Amino acid sequence: MTGGRVYLVGAGPGDPGLITVRGKEVLSRADVVVYDYLVSPRLLECAPRHAEKIYAGKRGSSHALEQDEIEWILVDRARFGANVVRLKGGDPFVFGRGGEEALALAGAGIPFEVVPGVTAAIAAAAYSGIPVTHRGLSSAVALVTGHETPAKDEPALHWQALGQWKGTLAFYMGVENIEQICASLVEHGLAADTPAAVIQWGTTPAQKVVVATVAGLAEAARASGVKPPAIIIVGDCVALREKLRWFETRPLFGRRVMVTRARTQASELSRRLEELGAETVELPVIRIEPARDPRPLKKAARRLSDFDWVIFTSANGVEAFFAAARSEGLDARALAGVRVAAIGPATAARLAAFGIRADLEPAESTSASLEEALSARGALQGARVLCLRADIAPKDFEDALAARGASVTAIAAYRTVRENADAETAAGMLARGEVDWVTFTSASTVTNLAALVRPETLNRSGATVASIGPLTSAAARALGLDVAAEAREHTIEGLVDCIVRHEDGRLGAPL
Ligand code: SAH
Repeated sequence: MTGGRVYLVGAGPGDPGLITVRGKEVLSRADVVVYDYLVSPRLLECAPRHAEKIYAGKRGSSHALEQDEIEWILVDRARFGANVVRLKGGDPFVFGRGGEEALALAGAGIPFEVVPGVTAAIAAAAYSGIPVTHRGLSSAVALVTGHETPAKDEPALHWQALGQWKGTLAFYMGVENIEQICASLVEHGLAADTPAAVIQWGTTPAQKVVVATVAGLAEAARASGVKPPAIIIVGDCVALREKLRWFETRPLFGRRVMVTRARTQASELSRRLEELGAETVELPVIRIEPARDPRPLKKAARRLSDFDWVIFTSANGVEAFFAAARSEGLDARALAGVRVAAIGPATAARLAAFGIRADLEPAESTSASLEEALSARGALQGARVLCLRADIAPKDFEDALAARGASVTAIAAYRTVRENADAETAAGMLARGEVDWVTFTSASTVTNLAALVRPETLNRSGATVASIGPLTSAAARALGLDVAAEAREHTIEGLVDCIVRHEDGRLGAPL
């Protein structure tokens, strides 16, 4: 068996967008991911579903795994041929014990690669509007551990040199010792009025920045309740923040918005909201799985000449059909003698990708509209119709076709499965009042949410409901939901605008 390889990958400081292209690439084909406390959960979604995900922990002094256990896991999995990604916050070689892990791998003869990451000090400073070097203000930057207290008998740091440092100092892991760190710098010659900042959860929607003089920083941090993880930045360039802050000033910064993912435009909505500073929580993803019993679909693919019409109700049905046909050694010619109807442009487009032009595509993307169109052609009386649909689709459509004289065979071509873990997270956040906005982009998104959370829970959660237009609002109100904001223009952009306008109004309103 060929051995595997270990990638020591920097996940970046918190914002999942700050991982490198190389880091994301190796993550996307990992067999095993060993990750730390500070790694964004969103990045784990980039790993394949089958990948083994191991939490190595490390939050303050409580470790899920000891360092030697972590090293043993890396060596062991690689020996069994796995591609292992060791995902670490920031950069793996900056206060991340990445060096120790690389030494263990080298010692065991395991091939490894290091993928650098954006380190917390530089990224948190950048997201606070602080350039760590700046012409005339700072010509050097030092990355320093804040773990070494100046009071130690044999200090590992040269406090004299740090006090005299002509540049920016960034202290990692220093919140607990902030008092001694700042006092020691001043004691060793740093001007007491040097600007300083402490940045908690930098680059994330929870970023909090406290600015003071180095002499006053410890007190200011305590007053604001700053906790780890946080970086302490000391130096004249901190003053530039006044002019350069950009991250927390975006209109939706600090707002948590729930977005449904049941439709393709959901990611577009998330992207726009995030660009304005919001944190988005995506509602449970629905996963498409093959039908439990694949035989009926395969049999239908072989026997399409038994039918006059085949109806595809979704792009997923098209995919499932061609997969079944392929597994029977067939291709698009299986559809040669039969007429094809497609509900919705996405379904027709997927058919076209397989070389099939639908004979009928109803004016509206609904089964009722298809039923009308077929009936208008006189195509239903006595016709043999095959309907390929989702397992959970209602039977009304088939019944309606049968009532018009068709002989209908319906096959569940695929299954839709809800991701339960996500569902619990979303519902839990609402119940705990952690969501500021809930967005609805269609009536089906309302139904989706209502399947997870009781309307009263949502109404009591403190979240404001925004809807894309009157039909969606009506669907929400029919379920007893309070709709506070409705888009003027019924588009994703209109919906985002309506939230921003609402937030502006709230800020401007007298208390
Ligand atoms: N290898 C990491 C550092 C690990 S040490 C890197 O290169 O960034 C952990 C320390 O990093 C924390 O105690 C804190 O000082 C800092 N840190 C990590 N993420 C941070 C964040 N999002 N905001 C502020 N500080 C952070």
